[in-house]
Amino acid sequence: MIFCPLYSGSSGNSIFLASRRTKILVDAGLSGKSIERGLAKIGCNANEINAILVTHEHIDHIKGVGVLSRKYNIPIYANCLTWKAMLKSIGKIKENNIKIISNSCISINDMDITSYSISHDAVDPCGYAINCGNKRVCIATDLGFISEKIKSILKDSDVILLESNHDVEMLKFGPYPYELKRRILSKIGHLSNDDCGKAILDILNSRFKRIILGHLSKINNYPELAYQTVATTLSEAGVKLKSDINISMAKRDEPSNFINF
Ligand SMILES: [Zn+2]
Ligand SMILES: [Zn+2]
Repeated sequence: MIFCPLYSGSSGNSIFLASRRTKILVDAGLSGKSIERGLAKIGCNANEINAILVTHEHIDHIKGVGVLSRKYNIPIYANCLTWKAMLKSIGKIKENNIKIISNSCISINDMDITSYSISHDAVDPCGYAINCGNKRVCIATDLGFISEKIKSILKDSDVILLESNHDVEMLKFGPYPYELKRRILSKIGHLSNDDCGKAILDILNSRFKRIILGHLSKINNYPELAYQTVATTLSEAGVKLKSDINISMAKRDEPSNFINF
C-alpha cells in the first residue's frame, strides 16, 4: 500500500491512500484546486480517486469534498450525523455519491474499512482503520484523548497518522482566547505532543509501526518541537527509534514523503 498525507494541520487535511486496485482520500479539507495540486505532485489525477471518506464536519476536513465529488463523480462516505451536519457546507451532491456508513464497516474494492468513534467536538467524529490484505493503516487525528478501545485498534496497525496538535505550554501562554484554549485542552479537543508520546508507548507491540505525527497547530506547535517531545518520551522509556518504531512528520502545506509498505 501507499500512504501519503497530502496536507495535514489545522489549516486543512487530506490523506491519500492507495492499494493495488483502489485510491482513496480521507478528508478533503482544502480547496478542490489545492487537493488536485497535491495529488498531481504525487503523480495522481483526481479522476483516479475511488472515494472520499470524511472523519467529521469541521471545515479543515470538508472544504473541498463537494467540489471534488461533483467534478470527478467521486462517492463520499460519512456517517449519518456527519452527513446531516456537512450537507449545507458542501453543496449539492449526486444521490449516487452519498454513501452513508451505517454499521461502521464498508468495503471499497480491496479495502476493508472500519470507522471508530473519537472524542472531539463534532456531531459524530470518527477515525478510520483501513485494511488491505494483511496491512492496516489508521487515521487518528482530532481527538481530545485516546481511549483504550482506540489504543487496541491502533496496536494492530502498520501505519498510523497520529495527532500531535500542540505544545501545552505554547498553547497556555499563546494568543488564543481563554475559551478556545479550554476547548483545545479538553477531552473533546486536540491531542498534545505529550499525550501523543504517551499514547505511542501504550500501543507499542511486536508489530513494527510507522507513525506519522500530524494535524499540528500552526500557532501552538512546530514540527521540530512535536518530534522532539515524542522522541524524548519514547527514548526515556527505552524505545529505540528506527529499530522499534519509525516516527516521521506530516507536512502542513505539501505532500509528505510517500510511505510504501
Ligand atoms: Zn476537528
Ligand atoms: Zn481538524
